[in-house]
Amino acid sequence: MKQIHTRKCSANCFLWNQTVGIFSARGNAYRCYRYVGNEEYKLGNINEDNFSLFNNRLRKPVVRKCSECWAQLFCGDGCPYENYLYEDDINKPNQQWCAKTKILLEESFRLYVQILINKPGLFKDMFDSQTK
Ligand code: SF4
Repeated sequence: MKQIHTRKCSANCFLWNQTVGIFSARGNAYRCYRYVGNEEYKLGNINEDNFSLFNNRLRKPVVRKCSECWAQLFCGDGCPYENYLYEDDINKPNQQWCAKTKILLEESFRLYVQILINKPGLFKDMFDSQTK
């Protein structure tokens, strides 16, 4: 509901963010904490001479299913790790994620409007600080 109220849409996930580094205790670097231990997504190790977080840039493709989806602005194209787990493809949205996201969004929209119409005092208490 906070996202709806502030109209702050979802930022893309860590995996596509070129400035994020997640490190294991042994110094292995990854873009996303969910890939820690996965050799395929290891960026390198901080003990390597030529290690740089900015090597190994992953480019996010346009996912047609997401670009045609009403929930895209809030969902942000889903989670590549969930896609990897369930579809074996980081760019293929999986049905469980899509169903969960849409149910959460629909219920959030409903609750947001119910509070706005029926409980204006509560709405003010909940969201006034969000817009200042
Ligand atoms: S709900 Fe599914 S199809 Fe829609 S933007 Fe999210 S991942 Fe993509």
